[in-house]
Amino acid sequence: MFKKILFFLAILATSVCIPTEASAPNYYPALLCVSCGFGNKIQNCVKCDKWTGSNYYNARICTNCGFSSKSQNCVKCGKWVGSARYEARLCTTCGFGHKDEYCVKCGKWTR
Ligand SMILES: [Zn+2]
Ligand SMILES: [Zn+2]
Ligand SMILES: [Zn+2]
Repeated sequence: MFKKILFFLAILATSVCIPTEASAPNYYPALLCVSCGFGNKIQNCVKCDKWTGSNYYNARICTNCGFSSKSQNCVKCGKWVGSARYEARLCTTCGFGHKDEYCVKCGKWTR
């Protein structure tokens, strides 16, 4: 019985779709729609448009900008991303230090 409850909780936790870290993250991943993330465009920094290659940081949006379903809007054009989940990236310049921890929309600290 107890095992069953644990199993149920595990399913519940994974279905919330926010990656579970040691401390609950205070941000949403910044997403791109199909048009903005298509092909190699996903590898362009969402801030300065520079090619990120394999060295990149994951872009974030704060809980205000991502509240309810707003986290599903493309951070570039604002379009609904739907089932396309292209995670927006930052180049090493824009993400260096802790700069990747700022919301790419409003600039607020996400932690
Ligand atoms: Zn950049
Ligand atoms: Zn877009
Ligand atoms: Zn924000």
